[in-house]
Amino acid sequence: MEKHEELLRIKHLKKYFPTPNGLLYAVDDVNFSISKGETLGVVGESGCGKSTLGRCILRLIEPTDGEVIYQGENIVGCSKEKMKELRKELQIIFQDPYESLNPRMTVSQAIQAPLIIQKIYKASDRVGLEKKTHEMMDLVGLARRVANSYPHELDGGRRQRIGIARALALNPKFIVCDEPVSALDVSIQAQVLNLLNELKHDLDLTYIFVAHDLSVVEYISDRVGVMYLGNFVEVGEKEKIYSNPMHPYTQALLSAVPVPDPTAKRERILLEGSIPSAHKPPTGCKFHTRCPKCMECCKTQAPERYEVDDGHYVYCHLYDKERREQQK
Ligand code: ADP
Repeated sequence: MEKHEELLRIKHLKKYFPTPNGLLYAVDDVNFSISKGETLGVVGESGCGKSTLGRCILRLIEPTDGEVIYQGENIVGCSKEKMKELRKELQIIFQDPYESLNPRMTVSQAIQAPLIIQKIYKASDRVGLEKKTHEMMDLVGLARRVANSYPHELDGGRRQRIGIARALALNPKFIVCDEPVSALDVSIQAQVLNLLNELKHDLDLTYIFVAHDLSVVEYISDRVGVMYLGNFVEVGEKEKIYSNPMHPYTQALLSAVPVPDPTAKRERILLEGSIPSAHKPPTGCKFHTRCPKCMECCKTQAPERYEVDDGHYVYCHLYDKERREQQK
């Protein structure tokens, strides 16, 4: 596998939901790319648009505007037939497998359903389907004896393994993992995260890993994008983001994560106010209403993207040297 070969590029992606109170700006001009074999963590507080972003990329919901370029081709606007074909390659693992699994389907039926829908196997091919089901169950660490169990008979970790097996059954290349361990006990989270990592390496997968838990994102990601009110505010290699956060929002988020070393000091940055409504996001930099370093220009002008280090980007006027000089 060639390193840094681009698999996916997101350009100016937007999703505005029409609601009785007007448009809700869930995803508002997001841009980034992902290389083959990479895990991009997307982190941010609840409601900042992470799930909507993941679903728009897979076209499970239609973006309002923008491009999703997968292997060089913009898949926004491509035909239903083409999308059905692409669905095999572009998969999702949901947060709550209990909700995403049909309670009346057994484990084997749940794993077989996408294979039959995508016409990989005929429903009548019992032998082929059973063989494939066992293969998938072995792959995700589900004991074959639970093949005829129903989701409610299994614990959260096993249910999530069914969700993973379903996503993998069609041999995907790219998976959106949408808070896949958030609903699990902490002890089981690590097992599922390790499984996802192993599968990524063994099957040459590429992930977007959406989560609000900064420690989980740190563990699983190669690069991390931090979202606030529908925008990326910072993106870069995990090590750079966690050791040297540059955006005041990232700094505040990370300051709230407990550090394992009790002698290490990290000052907690408390943000004032709550997240503004996505119906009426603040002008300029959307974070300016809560930013401890807000300058005049932040109130009216949206920041551009500044590269502060190799591949480490921040959307913040603080890193515009010229403007900083002017503000003095
Ligand atoms: P996150 O995954 O970061 O918690 P979401 O993507 O779920 O955030 O939601 C982003 C915003 O979009 C929230 O304000 C949410 O209420 C809104 N939203 C999500 N789905 C819909 C929908 N189908 N209709 C209207 N608003 C929605």
